[in-house]
Amino acid sequence: MTDSISSRAASLPHLRRAELAKGDPVPLPLTMAAIYNLPGDPKGFAQYGRFDNPTWHAVEALLGHLEDAPCVAFPSGMAAISAVFMALLKTGDRILLPSDGYYTTRVFSERFLKPLGMEVDMRPTRSFSDGGFAGYRIVFVETPSNPGLDICDIAGISAAAKAAGAIVVVDNTTMTPLGQRPLDLGADIVVAADTKAPNGHSDTLFGHAASRDPAVVAALLEWRKLSGAIPGPFEAWLVHRGLETLDVRFDRMCSSAETIAHRLAARKDLVSVVFPGLEDHPSHNLARRQMLRFGFLIGLTLPSEGAAERFIDGCALLQPATSFGGVHSSAERRARWGDAVAPGFVRLSVGCEPVEELWRAIDGALNGVG
Ligand SMILES: *Cc1c(COP(=O)(O)O)cnc(C)c1O
Repeated sequence: MTDSISSRAASLPHLRRAELAKGDPVPLPLTMAAIYNLPGDPKGFAQYGRFDNPTWHAVEALLGHLEDAPCVAFPSGMAAISAVFMALLKTGDRILLPSDGYYTTRVFSERFLKPLGMEVDMRPTRSFSDGGFAGYRIVFVETPSNPGLDICDIAGISAAAKAAGAIVVVDNTTMTPLGQRPLDLGADIVVAADTKAPNGHSDTLFGHAASRDPAVVAALLEWRKLSGAIPGPFEAWLVHRGLETLDVRFDRMCSSAETIAHRLAARKDLVSVVFPGLEDHPSHNLARRQMLRFGFLIGLTLPSEGAAERFIDGCALLQPATSFGGVHSSAERRARWGDAVAPGFVRLSVGCEPVEELWRAIDGALNGVG
Protein backbone atom coordinates (compact mmCIF):
# COMPACT_ATOMS: atom_id res chain seq x y z
CA MET A 1 0.00 0.00 0.00
CA THR A 2 2.81 2.40 0.94
CA ASP A 3 4.58 1.63 -2.33
CA SER A 4 1.57 2.26 -4.46
CA ILE A 5 0.86 5.63 -2.81
CA SER A 6 4.47 6.75 -3.25
CA SER A 7 4.37 5.72 -6.91
CA ARG A 8 1.16 7.77 -7.22
CA ALA A 9 2.92 10.74 -5.60
CA ALA A 10 5.83 10.31 -8.04
CA SER A 11 3.68 10.25 -11.17
CA LEU A 12 1.37 13.08 -10.04
CA PRO A 13 3.43 15.97 -11.49
CA HIS A 14 3.67 14.10 -14.83
CA LEU A 15 -0.03 13.29 -15.31
CA ARG A 16 -0.70 16.11 -17.77
CA ARG A 17 2.09 15.12 -20.10
CA ALA A 18 0.00 12.51 -21.93
CA GLU A 19 -2.50 15.22 -22.98
CA LEU A 20 0.03 17.79 -24.19
CA ALA A 21 0.46 18.66 -27.88
CA LYS A 22 3.82 19.98 -29.05
CA GLY A 23 4.17 23.62 -27.99
CA ASP A 24 1.53 23.47 -25.25
CA PRO A 25 2.37 25.08 -21.90
CA VAL A 26 3.58 22.49 -19.39
CA PRO A 27 1.92 24.13 -16.35
CA LEU A 28 -1.88 24.01 -16.14
CA PRO A 29 -3.58 26.96 -17.92
CA LEU A 30 -6.28 28.70 -15.87
CA THR A 31 -9.57 28.68 -17.78
CA MET A 32 -12.00 31.36 -16.61
CA ALA A 33 -15.17 30.68 -18.61
CA ALA A 34 -18.90 30.93 -18.00
CA ILE A 35 -19.74 30.01 -21.61
CA TYR A 36 -18.20 27.87 -24.35
CA ASN A 37 -18.32 28.01 -28.15
CA LEU A 38 -21.39 25.84 -28.78
CA PRO A 39 -23.06 25.91 -32.20
CA GLY A 40 -25.65 23.21 -33.03
CA ASP A 41 -26.01 19.96 -31.07
CA PRO A 42 -24.53 20.59 -27.57
CA LYS A 43 -24.22 16.92 -26.55
CA GLY A 44 -20.72 15.79 -25.62
CA PHE A 45 -19.23 19.30 -25.40
CA ALA A 46 -18.51 21.74 -22.56
CA GLN A 47 -21.76 23.71 -22.35
CA TYR A 48 -21.84 26.11 -19.44
CA GLY A 49 -19.66 27.12 -16.49
CA ARG A 50 -21.92 25.51 -13.87
CA PHE A 51 -21.62 22.13 -15.62
CA ASP A 52 -18.00 22.02 -16.76
CA ASN A 53 -14.64 23.67 -16.41
CA PRO A 54 -11.28 22.33 -17.66
CA THR A 55 -9.43 23.62 -14.57
CA TRP A 56 -11.80 21.71 -12.25
CA HIS A 57 -11.32 18.60 -14.33
CA ALA A 58 -7.54 18.96 -14.03
CA VAL A 59 -7.62 19.24 -10.22
CA GLU A 60 -10.11 16.37 -10.03
CA ALA A 61 -7.69 14.28 -12.07
CA LEU A 62 -4.89 14.90 -9.52
CA LEU A 63 -7.15 14.29 -6.53
CA GLY A 64 -8.59 11.18 -8.21
CA HIS A 65 -5.06 9.92 -8.91
CA LEU A 66 -4.18 10.26 -5.21
CA GLU A 67 -7.48 8.78 -3.98
CA ASP A 68 -7.42 6.03 -6.63
CA ALA A 69 -11.10 6.85 -7.20
CA PRO A 70 -13.20 9.34 -9.18
CA CYS A 71 -13.38 12.72 -7.38
CA VAL A 72 -15.89 15.57 -7.43
CA ALA A 73 -14.50 18.99 -6.47
CA PHE A 74 -16.40 21.52 -4.34
CA PRO A 75 -15.78 25.10 -3.22
CA SER A 76 -15.06 24.06 0.40
CA GLY A 77 -14.85 21.03 2.64
CA MET A 78 -18.33 21.77 3.98
CA ALA A 79 -19.72 22.02 0.44
CA ALA A 80 -18.40 18.47 -0.18
CA ILE A 81 -19.81 17.16 3.11
CA SER A 82 -23.22 18.80 2.67
CA ALA A 83 -23.34 17.56 -0.96
CA VAL A 84 -22.93 13.97 0.26
CA PHE A 85 -25.81 14.43 2.69
CA MET A 86 -28.11 16.28 0.31
CA ALA A 87 -27.46 13.97 -2.64
CA LEU A 88 -27.86 10.68 -0.75
CA LEU A 89 -30.37 11.23 2.09
CA LYS A 90 -34.13 11.51 2.14
CA THR A 91 -36.82 12.11 4.76
CA GLY A 92 -36.91 9.36 7.38
CA ASP A 93 -33.23 8.42 7.02
CA ARG A 94 -31.01 8.16 10.10
CA ILE A 95 -27.38 9.20 10.18
CA LEU A 96 -24.62 8.64 12.72
CA LEU A 97 -21.97 11.32 13.29
CA PRO A 98 -18.97 11.62 15.61
CA SER A 99 -19.86 13.78 18.64
CA ASP A 100 -16.26 15.01 18.80
CA GLY A 101 -15.59 15.62 15.09
CA TYR A 102 -15.58 18.79 13.01
CA TYR A 103 -18.16 21.05 14.64
CA THR A 104 -19.82 22.40 11.49
CA THR A 105 -20.79 18.92 10.23
CA ARG A 106 -22.86 18.48 13.39
CA VAL A 107 -24.37 21.97 13.21
CA PHE A 108 -25.28 21.51 9.53
CA SER A 109 -27.05 18.24 10.34
CA GLU A 110 -28.96 19.70 13.29
CA ARG A 111 -29.89 22.89 11.46
CA PHE A 112 -30.79 21.53 8.00
CA LEU A 113 -31.20 17.72 8.05
CA LYS A 114 -33.39 17.40 11.15
CA PRO A 115 -36.03 19.86 9.88
CA LEU A 116 -36.22 17.78 6.66
CA GLY A 117 -37.24 14.77 8.78
CA MET A 118 -33.92 12.98 9.20
CA GLU A 119 -32.64 11.61 12.48
CA VAL A 120 -29.15 12.56 13.62
CA ASP A 121 -27.34 10.48 16.26
CA MET A 122 -23.86 11.06 17.64
CA ARG A 123 -21.21 8.96 19.36
CA PRO A 124 -17.67 9.63 20.57
CA THR A 125 -14.99 8.57 18.07
CA ARG A 126 -13.19 6.44 20.65
CA SER A 127 -16.24 4.16 21.22
CA PHE A 128 -17.87 4.66 17.81
CA SER A 129 -18.77 1.00 17.23
CA ASP A 130 -20.59 0.58 20.57
CA GLY A 131 -24.28 0.07 19.80
CA GLY A 132 -23.83 -1.23 16.25
CA PHE A 133 -25.06 0.35 13.03
CA ALA A 134 -28.52 -1.15 12.40
CA GLY A 135 -30.97 1.31 10.87
CA TYR A 136 -28.45 3.91 9.66
CA ARG A 137 -28.38 5.16 6.07
CA ILE A 138 -25.08 7.03 6.53
CA VAL A 139 -22.36 6.27 9.08
CA PHE A 140 -19.91 9.18 9.10
CA VAL A 141 -16.52 8.90 10.77
CA GLU A 142 -13.60 11.25 11.27
CA THR A 143 -10.29 9.79 12.38
CA PRO A 144 -8.13 11.18 13.89
CA SER A 145 -10.98 13.37 15.11
CA ASN A 146 -10.54 17.13 15.02
CA PRO A 147 -9.49 18.44 17.53
CA GLY A 148 -9.20 15.61 20.11
CA LEU A 149 -7.19 13.27 17.79
CA ASP A 150 -9.13 10.19 18.92
CA ILE A 151 -9.05 7.28 16.50
CA CYS A 152 -11.57 4.70 15.35
CA ASP A 153 -11.18 1.54 13.27
CA ILE A 154 -12.14 2.41 9.67
CA ALA A 155 -11.98 -1.20 8.40
CA GLY A 156 -13.97 -2.62 11.32
CA ILE A 157 -16.63 0.09 11.18
CA SER A 158 -16.88 -0.14 7.38
CA ALA A 159 -17.43 -3.91 7.46
CA ALA A 160 -20.03 -3.76 10.24
CA ALA A 161 -21.87 -0.68 8.94
CA LYS A 162 -21.99 -1.94 5.35
CA ALA A 163 -23.29 -5.33 6.56
CA ALA A 164 -26.06 -3.33 8.31
CA GLY A 165 -26.88 -1.58 5.00
CA ALA A 166 -25.26 1.81 5.67
CA ILE A 167 -23.10 3.98 3.41
CA VAL A 168 -19.78 4.68 5.17
CA VAL A 169 -18.35 8.18 4.76
CA VAL A 170 -14.92 9.14 6.13
CA ASP A 171 -13.80 12.74 6.63
CA ASN A 172 -10.08 12.30 5.87
CA THR A 173 -9.13 15.99 6.19
CA THR A 174 -6.62 15.54 8.99
CA MET A 175 -4.67 12.86 7.06
CA THR A 176 -4.96 13.53 3.27
CA PRO A 177 -4.83 10.58 0.81
CA LEU A 178 -1.08 10.33 1.45
CA GLY A 179 -1.52 9.55 5.14
CA GLN A 180 -4.60 7.33 5.29
CA ARG A 181 -6.57 5.32 2.69
CA PRO A 182 -10.22 5.04 3.82
CA LEU A 183 -11.47 3.64 0.49
CA ASP A 184 -8.85 0.86 0.62
CA LEU A 185 -10.02 0.13 4.19
CA GLY A 186 -13.59 -0.40 2.96
CA ALA A 187 -15.27 3.01 3.23
CA ASP A 188 -17.71 4.00 0.45
CA ILE A 189 -16.95 7.72 0.28
CA VAL A 190 -14.07 9.98 1.35
CA VAL A 191 -14.71 13.66 1.95
CA ALA A 192 -12.00 16.21 2.71
CA ALA A 193 -11.28 19.89 3.10
CA ASP A 194 -8.51 20.63 0.60
CA THR A 195 -8.48 24.03 2.29
CA LYS A 196 -5.99 22.40 4.68
CA ALA A 197 -2.81 20.50 3.70
CA PRO A 198 -3.68 19.65 0.05
CA ASN A 199 -3.77 23.34 -0.93
CA GLY A 200 -1.37 24.04 1.89
CA HIS A 201 -0.84 27.78 1.44
CA SER A 202 -3.84 29.05 3.42
CA ASP A 203 -5.05 31.16 0.51
CA THR A 204 -8.17 29.33 -0.63
CA LEU A 205 -11.00 27.07 0.49
CA PHE A 206 -11.69 23.88 -1.45
CA GLY A 207 -13.05 20.38 -0.94
CA HIS A 208 -13.71 17.07 -2.64
CA ALA A 209 -15.61 13.82 -2.34
CA ALA A 210 -14.24 10.56 -3.79
CA SER A 211 -15.97 7.23 -4.31
CA ARG A 212 -15.54 4.04 -6.32
CA ASP A 213 -19.34 3.71 -6.58
CA PRO A 214 -20.43 5.24 -9.93
CA ALA A 215 -23.95 5.88 -8.60
CA VAL A 216 -22.55 7.99 -5.75
CA VAL A 217 -20.33 9.98 -8.12
CA ALA A 218 -23.27 10.57 -10.49
CA ALA A 219 -25.46 11.79 -7.61
CA LEU A 220 -22.74 14.19 -6.41
CA LEU A 221 -22.18 15.57 -9.92
CA GLU A 222 -25.91 16.12 -10.31
CA TRP A 223 -26.12 17.83 -6.90
CA ARG A 224 -23.23 20.14 -7.81
CA LYS A 225 -24.70 21.06 -11.19
CA LEU A 226 -28.23 21.70 -9.90
CA SER A 227 -27.43 23.32 -6.54
CA GLY A 228 -24.69 25.51 -8.01
CA ALA A 229 -22.15 24.54 -5.29
CA ILE A 230 -19.33 24.81 -7.84
CA PRO A 231 -15.66 25.60 -7.20
CA GLY A 232 -14.16 28.72 -8.78
CA PRO A 233 -11.65 27.97 -11.57
CA PHE A 234 -8.94 30.08 -9.93
CA GLU A 235 -9.36 28.23 -6.63
CA ALA A 236 -9.13 24.93 -8.55
CA TRP A 237 -5.93 26.20 -10.18
CA LEU A 238 -4.42 27.11 -6.79
CA VAL A 239 -5.24 23.68 -5.37
CA HIS A 240 -3.76 22.02 -8.48
CA ARG A 241 -0.53 23.93 -7.84
CA GLY A 242 -0.63 23.05 -4.13
CA LEU A 243 -1.11 19.34 -4.82
CA GLU A 244 2.14 19.24 -6.82
CA THR A 245 4.07 19.78 -3.56
CA LEU A 246 1.74 17.94 -1.16
CA ASP A 247 4.04 14.92 -0.88
CA VAL A 248 7.11 16.92 0.14
CA ARG A 249 5.16 19.21 2.49
CA PHE A 250 3.20 16.38 4.12
CA ASP A 251 6.36 14.34 4.62
CA ARG A 252 8.14 17.26 6.31
CA MET A 253 5.12 18.15 8.44
CA CYS A 254 4.53 14.58 9.67
CA SER A 255 8.24 13.96 10.38
CA SER A 256 8.56 17.23 12.29
CA ALA A 257 5.35 16.50 14.23
CA GLU A 258 6.76 13.14 15.37
CA THR A 259 9.96 14.77 16.59
CA ILE A 260 8.14 17.60 18.35
CA ALA A 261 5.44 15.39 19.91
CA HIS A 262 8.05 13.13 21.52
CA ARG A 263 9.97 16.12 22.87
CA LEU A 264 6.77 17.74 24.19
CA ALA A 265 5.83 14.46 25.88
CA ALA A 266 9.18 14.49 27.71
CA ARG A 267 8.41 17.88 29.32
CA LYS A 268 7.09 17.79 32.87
CA ASP A 269 5.03 21.00 32.74
CA LEU A 270 2.30 19.98 30.28
CA VAL A 271 -0.98 18.45 31.46
CA SER A 272 -1.08 16.17 28.40
CA VAL A 273 0.25 15.68 24.88
CA VAL A 274 -1.94 13.84 22.37
CA PHE A 275 -0.45 12.52 19.13
CA PRO A 276 -1.32 9.21 17.44
CA GLY A 277 2.38 8.37 17.11
CA LEU A 278 3.01 8.46 20.88
CA GLU A 279 3.05 5.04 22.51
CA ASP A 280 0.67 6.26 25.24
CA HIS A 281 -2.04 7.35 22.76
CA PRO A 282 -5.05 5.14 23.67
CA SER A 283 -5.29 3.89 20.06
CA HIS A 284 -1.59 3.86 19.16
CA ASN A 285 -1.65 0.25 17.91
CA LEU A 286 -4.69 0.91 15.72
CA ALA A 287 -2.98 4.07 14.42
CA ARG A 288 0.08 2.01 13.44
CA ARG A 289 -2.17 -0.41 11.52
CA GLN A 290 -4.47 1.99 9.74
CA MET A 291 -2.45 5.17 9.15
CA LEU A 292 0.54 5.47 6.80
CA ARG A 293 1.78 8.47 8.81
CA PHE A 294 0.72 9.83 12.20
CA GLY A 295 -0.26 13.24 10.80
CA PHE A 296 0.93 16.75 11.61
CA LEU A 297 -1.54 17.77 14.34
CA ILE A 298 -0.61 17.66 18.02
CA GLY A 299 -2.98 18.33 20.93
CA LEU A 300 -1.25 19.76 23.97
CA THR A 301 -2.86 20.88 27.20
CA LEU A 302 -1.30 23.63 29.28
CA PRO A 303 -2.39 24.20 32.89
CA SER A 304 -4.69 27.15 32.13
CA GLU A 305 -6.24 29.36 29.47
CA GLY A 306 -3.75 32.11 30.31
CA ALA A 307 -0.75 29.80 29.98
CA ALA A 308 -2.01 28.52 26.62
CA GLU A 309 -2.54 32.05 25.27
CA ARG A 310 0.90 33.19 26.53
CA PHE A 311 2.49 30.17 24.83
CA ILE A 312 0.84 30.87 21.45
CA ASP A 313 1.52 34.62 21.58
CA GLY A 314 5.07 34.09 22.78
CA CYS A 315 6.18 31.73 20.01
CA ALA A 316 7.52 33.58 16.96
CA LEU A 317 7.15 30.51 14.72
CA LEU A 318 3.51 29.79 15.57
CA GLN A 319 0.86 31.72 13.68
CA PRO A 320 -2.18 32.22 15.93
CA ALA A 321 -5.03 31.15 13.61
CA THR A 322 -7.85 28.69 13.29
CA SER A 323 -7.55 25.99 10.61
CA PHE A 324 -4.42 23.91 9.97
CA GLY A 325 -2.25 22.28 7.32
CA GLY A 326 -0.45 25.38 6.02
CA VAL A 327 3.28 25.79 5.35
CA HIS A 328 3.49 27.91 8.53
CA SER A 329 3.00 26.18 11.85
CA SER A 330 -0.12 27.47 13.58
CA ALA A 331 -1.88 27.03 16.87
CA GLU A 332 -5.05 27.91 18.68
CA ARG A 333 -6.90 27.29 21.92
CA ARG A 334 -9.91 25.26 20.81
CA ALA A 335 -12.07 26.05 23.86
CA ARG A 336 -12.50 29.55 22.40
CA TRP A 337 -14.90 27.96 19.87
CA GLY A 338 -16.74 25.91 22.49
CA ASP A 339 -15.10 22.54 21.70
CA ALA A 340 -15.42 20.08 24.60
CA VAL A 341 -11.75 20.36 25.60
CA ALA A 342 -9.84 21.81 28.57
CA PRO A 343 -9.41 25.65 28.59
CA GLY A 344 -5.62 25.14 28.19
CA PHE A 345 -5.94 22.72 25.22
CA VAL A 346 -3.99 23.90 22.15
CA ARG A 347 -4.23 22.34 18.70
CA LEU A 348 -0.84 22.67 17.10
CA SER A 349 -0.52 22.28 13.34
CA VAL A 350 3.11 21.58 12.47
CA GLY A 351 4.18 23.30 9.26
CA CYS A 352 7.22 23.20 6.99
CA GLU A 353 9.76 25.19 8.99
CA PRO A 354 13.11 23.44 9.63
CA VAL A 355 12.35 21.24 12.64
CA GLU A 356 15.21 22.20 14.96
CA GLU A 357 14.43 25.92 14.59
CA LEU A 358 10.76 25.21 15.14
CA TRP A 359 11.46 23.12 18.24
CA ARG A 360 13.74 25.81 19.70
CA ALA A 361 10.95 28.38 19.27
CA ILE A 362 8.26 26.12 20.79
CA ASP A 363 10.48 24.98 23.65
CA GLY A 364 11.53 28.57 24.40
CA ALA A 365 7.93 29.80 24.36
CA LEU A 366 6.87 27.02 26.77
CA ASN A 367 9.78 27.90 29.08
CA GLY A 368 8.62 31.51 29.01
CA VAL A 369 5.05 30.72 30.01
CA GLY A 370 6.15 30.41 33.64
C1 LIG B 1 -11.81 22.35 7.93
C2 LIG B 1 -12.54 21.06 8.02
C3 LIG B 1 -13.74 20.87 7.33
C4 LIG B 1 -14.42 21.97 6.55
O1 LIG B 1 -13.65 22.51 5.53
P1 LIG B 1 -13.99 23.97 4.89
O2 LIG B 1 -13.13 24.02 3.70
O3 LIG B 1 -13.64 24.98 5.96
O4 LIG B 1 -15.45 24.00 4.59
C5 LIG B 1 -14.34 19.63 7.42
N1 LIG B 1 -13.82 18.63 8.15
C6 LIG B 1 -12.68 18.79 8.85
C7 LIG B 1 -12.14 17.66 9.65
C8 LIG B 1 -12.01 20.01 8.82
O5 LIG B 1 -10.90 20.16 9.54
